[in-house]
Amino acid sequence: MATLRASATVRRLATGAIWSEGPVWLPEIGAVRWSDIPNDRILQYELETGGLSVYSAAAEFTNGRTLDASGAVIQCSHGRRAVERDVDGVVTTIVDRWNGVRFNSPNDVVVARDGAIWFTDPPYGIDLPREGHPGEREYGGCYVFRYEPATGEVVPVITDMEKPNGLAFSPDESILYVSDTSWAPGANESGNHHIQAYDVVGGAHCERGRTIAVIEPGVPDGFRVDVEGRIWTSSADSVQVLSATGELLDRIPVPEVVANVCFGGPGGSTLFIAASSSLYAVETTTRGAGS
Ligand code: MG
Repeated sequence: MATLRASATVRRLATGAIWSEGPVWLPEIGAVRWSDIPNDRILQYELETGGLSVYSAAAEFTNGRTLDASGAVIQCSHGRRAVERDVDGVVTTIVDRWNGVRFNSPNDVVVARDGAIWFTDPPYGIDLPREGHPGEREYGGCYVFRYEPATGEVVPVITDMEKPNGLAFSPDESILYVSDTSWAPGANESGNHHIQAYDVVGGAHCERGRTIAVIEPGVPDGFRVDVEGRIWTSSADSVQVLSATGELLDRIPVPEVVANVCFGGPGGSTLFIAASSSLYAVETTTRGAGS
């Protein structure tokens, strides 16, 4: 089945960022909100008018974001080393530590149907001065965590990845996909640039991690899953569409290095692409699954 509409082309909607990340579609206002991490600001693009605005300056280096069931924006902040909620510009911390120590720099986040918040915690915001504030790894690793809003409990669910980054559930939430982006040209040539799949057990645990796809060129940073279970992942030169088991189905060339994507638009079938300096869009034949 085709992934794009027959006449679909990748179009540039906005530019002027340094490193675009963390896009989310806001249905109530018909806009895409995303992070320009090195400029420490949050941008917003209104689809109908084409209006680009700075939603927040001095944003404490936000990164990935999604919506919860109430429509509130849940976002990661490298600067505050936290996962937080933004409602009409009022930002409150949801969780910023585990076992008495701070996270590294939460990178990307999803909300499960039961309300639990799952997020990755690689060290980019404490290692790279342009992406946050220099700091130490206080618990020593780079985990994926699950936060339970009802109890405030936060539990590591994946501890065997080097630099977990993007994450998304399969449509039935039986599988959690997580990318590992530890590969770095000139710095860690033997690092990972792949997507792992984990079985989700009891809605709260991950088991049987396995690599389903090695992504080239570049790394699979952020990605989303569509309602048919396919994975739409970033890479250095394109958005790549994978089957649920990791086979490459399609490649959508993009003129800049891609960091992350989200589905949205009036019918939910537009893919918005955060790629270096710009926000792009392309019309697909599907819709996003979950958050
Ligand atoms: Mg990321």
